[in-house]
Amino acid sequence: NQSLAQLDPEIAAVLDDELARQRGTLEMIASENFVPRAVLQAAGSVLTNKYAEGYPGRRYYGGCEVVDVAENIAIERAKALFGAEFANVQPHSGATANAAVLHALARPGDTILGLALDQGGHLTHGMKINFSGRLYDVVAYGVDPQTSQVDMAEVRRLAVEHRPKVIIAGWSAYPRQLDFAAFREIADEVGAYLWVDMAHFAGLVAAGVHPSPVPHAHVVSSTVHKTIGGPRSGFILTNDADLAKKINSAVFPGQQGGPLMHIVAAKAVAFKIAMGEEFRDRQERTLRGAKILAERLLAEDVRAAGIGVRSGGTDVHLVLVDLREAAIDGRQAEDLLHKAGITVNRNAVPDDPRPPMVTSGLRIGTPALATRGFGDEQFAEVADVIARALIAGPDADVSALQARTAALADAFPLYPGLQQ
Ligand code: PLP
Repeated sequence: NQSLAQLDPEIAAVLDDELARQRGTLEMIASENFVPRAVLQAAGSVLTNKYAEGYPGRRYYGGCEVVDVAENIAIERAKALFGAEFANVQPHSGATANAAVLHALARPGDTILGLALDQGGHLTHGMKINFSGRLYDVVAYGVDPQTSQVDMAEVRRLAVEHRPKVIIAGWSAYPRQLDFAAFREIADEVGAYLWVDMAHFAGLVAAGVHPSPVPHAHVVSSTVHKTIGGPRSGFILTNDADLAKKINSAVFPGQQGGPLMHIVAAKAVAFKIAMGEEFRDRQERTLRGAKILAERLLAEDVRAAGIGVRSGGTDVHLVLVDLREAAIDGRQAEDLLHKAGITVNRNAVPDDPRPPMVTSGLRIGTPALATRGFGDEQFAEVADVIARALIAGPDADVSALQARTAALADAFPLYPGLQQ
């Protein structure tokens, strides 16, 4: 019964160092967030000890009567939060949720149509060496080079030409809302299933500040750890009873063995939090923060440095910075902001002239800072730091900017009092 520090000081030090890093820097990776203490508690609980293959009331192991309660609560909350008739809360991650969706909707060799990875799509939407690209015949749509937005006429043209079994709407790096009704119309026209992957914007949907895909899609998948701010994991929704059965068997036994019951319980907690007023306020601050950032990066001094904002703004929780014409590349920009105390990730832009390890873009998101408590004033301050750093270029001395981010981090303490 030794503590972690006694038993394994090396890993205890990693936990301490990571907590210090999260506290001392400004997290702006668009797919990251900070889980509340209650979620940490559930995720770090004895529920990790339990095998529970199967579904509540129909398990392949004894002793599941307690964890069944947690899974039933998680299912009911997911359904209520998103207005869906069926929910599967067992996927270990977004990628395994997506593997199960394709497993349920298509057979290997069938055609799928999704947003290309280099245009903002996800690996699981048909990237060549991902399972999705290896098992299915992939056709990809892109974004319009002028507007940087998905062109529904192009989606329709490809759908009519290739007659996919599944059309995928969803993204990892895209700053606008998709037209789910238009996607569904195209899916109906060609006899395809519409699958929406709302991993990134699910928190916005839950708060009612982004249109919901649930009434339009045959199936919706999501992660829980991005805008929702819950444990690292996934879930799947549908309103169709037959598809619900197929999805359940695609998750287990199709993709997974025993569900992570500690994470299922933590998901239930995250869904409960997402039903509250504070959560809605957080998602509203997230959206306003992204708009404030986009506006600052569209200002004259930033433009003059050849730095652009893809699609000219944002409707969601992230901004895509275009560095194709700038002196600084994606990797240099990521490193420079890191030195200034801000964590972001470089991201390829469509038709990127630089290689994938370098890139000409940045993806900058506001969910984690909104969770930390940031409002308009703090987002304006961090946006100005980002703008000034990018203008100053790869070799700039950012110590004055770093002092500004450190002051923000100090003013919004993360996990006060927490010791791991
Ligand atoms: N779907 C989308 C749209 C994503 O952006 C991501 C994560 O980046 C995933 C799925 C995969 O989630 P995970 O990393 O949990 O497998």
